[in-house]
Amino acid sequence: MIITKIKLICIAALLLIIPLVASAAPLDVRKITPPKLESIHLGQKILCHRPMRHGSPNMIVEQKDGKVIAHNYGHGGSGWTLGPGSASYVNNLLINFSGAADLKNDTPITIIGAGALGFFTAYDLVQRGFTNITIVAEKFDSLTSHNAGGLLAPVSMDNDPKMQKIIDQIGIDAYKFYASIAQKKHKHFKDGAVIVPTYFENREDSGLEPYVGKVMKPAKDVMLDFGNGTTRKMVSYDDGIFINTAKMMTGLRDYLDKKKIKFVQKKIHSFSDLNTMYIINCSGLGSGKLNKDGEMAAVQGHLIMLKDQNPQDLQYMILVYFNEGETQSGQKVKRSFYIFPKHLSNTGAKDIGVIGGTFIEGATPKTPNEKEFDILLEGAKKFYGIQ
Ligand SMILES: Cc1cc2nc3c(=O)[nH]c(=O)nc-3n(C[C@H](O)[C@H](O)[C@H](O)COP(=O)(O)OP(=O)(O)OC[C@H]3O[C@@H](n4cnc5c(N)ncnc54)[C@H](O)[C@@H]3O)c2cc1C
Repeated sequence: MIITKIKLICIAALLLIIPLVASAAPLDVRKITPPKLESIHLGQKILCHRPMRHGSPNMIVEQKDGKVIAHNYGHGGSGWTLGPGSASYVNNLLINFSGAADLKNDTPITIIGAGALGFFTAYDLVQRGFTNITIVAEKFDSLTSHNAGGLLAPVSMDNDPKMQKIIDQIGIDAYKFYASIAQKKHKHFKDGAVIVPTYFENREDSGLEPYVGKVMKPAKDVMLDFGNGTTRKMVSYDDGIFINTAKMMTGLRDYLDKKKIKFVQKKIHSFSDLNTMYIINCSGLGSGKLNKDGEMAAVQGHLIMLKDQNPQDLQYMILVYFNEGETQSGQKVKRSFYIFPKHLSNTGAKDIGVIGGTFIEGATPKTPNEKEFDILLEGAKKFYGIQ
């Protein structure tokens, strides 16, 4: 009887102690050397515009003007995150479309747009055996797709809750595609994506929770220590993916050239300008006019490339949201700070890193909101505790 009592007391004591010990587990501290942000370490300032569509990206197939038109545009700040999965999703819809019974592997297909969405769409069609593909685009260089940061996370996009499951699956498919490149297992692309720790203030901000358990490991609570007295409590997805957008664009273009895809530089004013029956519309922001889509909106972003850094100090990504405010031209701005290990191929090996962080809906090149570059830099310094 006494022994049983002692046993019970011991078990009760253990039950009390175990949670105390667990909660006292030290936080994973990550030492990070802040980037050099003095003016001599700042490179090109980039202004570009996300093709955002209210409601959801347009990923449907329809019959219009006697043609079969598949749409694949309006992915906002997540065009790279969703690109490969979105291409495959829309191409599936097209192939299974009731009005596409006569679609054969050698049927001519025109893709409008030479950005990430147009290139991934063409790449996916080639994998399915299609041989007669033409990409028509007004511009081929310095597109939003080249300039984008490169974080894989479904952020800065509008998403109808009805579409959530589809968007999640598209993102998971895209993650698998980039992860195979990062792990050097992809059969066509040897570089263009790397796996790096990716830090957010909380799990919700990342949009990545639907990927956890399927393709990603759970995020960890960590403390970032910048070695200057500033520390920040964050969460880390250690298997986050950075997409080197410029490299991916070059890799995709080279692949499509090898597969004899035809490229035509031309602005399309109406789908009837094209003489093919099958069209895939990947014209990004151009869809506002071309598809008379009133839901399309430009979301302006500011980026500053960094110069002469220590590349080994920049093998991570951070995204933190700040406040909402107003720009010098009176537009509403959502400010954040992010940093990714972006590197442009025409620059030195140490010219690595990009900082960014503005989201200004409705701003166009006519309202460049130049002051946002200074505000962005100040936000970056404050985040790292740089005087
Ligand atoms: C600052 C910034 C940071 C970003 N960071 C990220 C990120 O970290 N991660 C992420 O996933 N995404 C990011 N994005 C979003 C991503 O860049 C876009 O969603 C993606 O590049 C859109 O690709 P797209 O092919 O739809 O459009 P685009 O790259 O704009 O290409 C559109 C193509 O269509 C052509 N076109 C348009 N109209 C016509 C017409 N009428 N006739 C013929 N051709 C036409 C254009 O010439 C062009 O070739 C960012 C965007 C910005 C602006």
